[in-house]
Amino acid sequence: MSEVGVVRGGHLLTMGPAGDLEDGAVAFAHGEVLAVGPFAEIAGRYPDAAVVGDDRGVVLPGLVNAHTHLSEALLCGMGEDLSLLEWLAAIITPAGRHLTREMARTGAMLKGAELLLSGVTCVNDMFCHTSQGSLASLGAVDGLEAMGLRGVVAFGAEDAVDPLPVADVLAEHHALAERCAASRLIGFRLGVGTVLGQTDELLRASAAEARANGWAVHTHLAEVKEEVVQARLRWGETTVGRAGSVGLLEVPLLAAHCVWVHTDEIVALARAGAAVAHNPVANMILASGVCPVPALRQAGIPVAIGTDGPASNDSQNMLEAVKAAALLQKVARLDPRALTAGDVLAMATVEGARALGLDELIGSLEPGKRADVVRLRGDRPGLANVHDPRQQVVYCASPADVADVWVDGIRRVADGRLVDHDLAALVEASRPLAADLVTRAGLEDFSRLAVRRE
Ligand SMILES: [Zn+2]
Repeated sequence: MSEVGVVRGGHLLTMGPAGDLEDGAVAFAHGEVLAVGPFAEIAGRYPDAAVVGDDRGVVLPGLVNAHTHLSEALLCGMGEDLSLLEWLAAIITPAGRHLTREMARTGAMLKGAELLLSGVTCVNDMFCHTSQGSLASLGAVDGLEAMGLRGVVAFGAEDAVDPLPVADVLAEHHALAERCAASRLIGFRLGVGTVLGQTDELLRASAAEARANGWAVHTHLAEVKEEVVQARLRWGETTVGRAGSVGLLEVPLLAAHCVWVHTDEIVALARAGAAVAHNPVANMILASGVCPVPALRQAGIPVAIGTDGPASNDSQNMLEAVKAAALLQKVARLDPRALTAGDVLAMATVEGARALGLDELIGSLEPGKRADVVRLRGDRPGLANVHDPRQQVVYCASPADVADVWVDGIRRVADGRLVDHDLAALVEASRPLAADLVTRAGLEDFSRLAVRRE
């Protein structure tokens, strides 16, 4: 039996130099892409390889979800009538005080399943909590690793609302960095929950720690208008300005949102080589605003797409976030060309990989890169008649069309089902922990789980 695997599709979107191929295939072995090309050519080169797929459907690189919070994995469906700052105060902050490493692991496995089943192979997580001494963020690595996902995990530290000793926060960054260093597929970033959510002492210490250790940083930036106003009142400058003042633009920075940025701030972010994670569904559900995606990209800033957390989307369905990214720009600018299917597919693959500094490894299907591959089936209505594969992946495909997923050459989804896990068991394992978290955090007013437990 050959060690080479081949994935075939009616259309192969390499998102790399080979472009889009009809009846194309990708061959890989030991986790590495060996070749892409027309299926007939690939089959001739690797005649003994096992072939998955046929001359229908679409094969493309695994999607990169550039921003989520697995710390919210057990809190879907709460507070849709709240704006960001209200929602943080009412739900996220109280819950963050009670998260445990076990909740983190179980939640990451549950949402990891949802990610894989929507075609995601790489996820950038910012795990936010103030559960002192729990090292809960390490549980997100445990969970993602158990699911076989590639990713990056940051501890989204904040101490302005819930005071934490700066030394404890830095200790968790180091513990998480060590945990990630021991993981084959999970990397680390230093997390700054929000610039406004940190005391001046922690903000300065975070920037210094990132510079001293050569760590990249992940933060939220300019998400809502109130953030800009509060920052001006506190420091006399916006959060983008403050990030620059404390040195956060001197390290590789991935900033989520950047909805409320002025032209000069876009220029500053571009000059700093910063990247942006755009979260259209979260921006819409929290009524935060419309990210100037075209202007950011025209300035040369890589703009990735994220689902955002399971309590502000509330789904980890990446295909939905990709579609929403195009729709939001079209309607906000009353211009159907504002952001095309090709644009958002690039943002969810090759541009997302660049935003995370992983473009040498993933984001496109080309020889030498890692084999993160998704096959969308062609025997369902969405992709039955493919006139334009890019438009149909973005506007027609749903998780039900995700047939097979490989991460680093290992098949994690086969024929629409998880290979290594029983989905029903993951769901069951999460239920007592979700109920426990609601009770401990006093979120009964937002949850029917608590009512049912009486
Ligand atoms: Zn977020």
